[in-house]
Amino acid sequence: MCLVDEPPKVTGTLIWYYYICQREVWLMAHELNPEHENLFLELGRLIHEGTYSRDKKEFTFPGMKIDILQRREGRLIIGEVKKSSKTTKSAKMQLAYYLWRLEKMGLQTKGELLIPRERKRISIELTESLRIELEKTIEHIKKIVASKNPPPPVRSRFCRKCAYQEFCWS
Ligand code: SF4
Repeated sequence: MCLVDEPPKVTGTLIWYYYICQREVWLMAHELNPEHENLFLELGRLIHEGTYSRDKKEFTFPGMKIDILQRREGRLIIGEVKKSSKTTKSAKMQLAYYLWRLEKMGLQTKGELLIPRERKRISIELTESLRIELEKTIEHIKKIVASKNPPPPVRSRFCRKCAYQEFCWS
């Protein structure tokens, strides 16, 4: 069993954001801090100097951040806790990514998406169709991140609470 896999370039966090907003995936992957006063200048520098692809070693976020790890009936259970089911698709794919990564390390695991406020517990197995979707998503995230410019903003229900709202829409 190999417990060391390759350093992640696509992280669970980016998988999560992919299903929220692809522009946010790019901004986060390039470590553009929405609190930064000179975000426009910073973005301009990164795009025009083309430095981001060479100089940044890894993304800010670790590849995996598992909320709960349990052994139940001889099987490892990976739990992901979320506040609401409004982002179930994102959470499901993030969890699928963890299962996929752990499988690559030789660990057979099962996922559980937990939404305590709604008293929900959703089981996630890495099925073949989920694996295919995940692998396509990973490839697409790589393309988004490697792109020189962020994807254009697309207004959605997530913009209202997004930290980049001012940057995208002012
Ligand atoms: S404000 Fe909207 S378009 Fe801009 S990054 Fe956030 S979610 Fe995406």
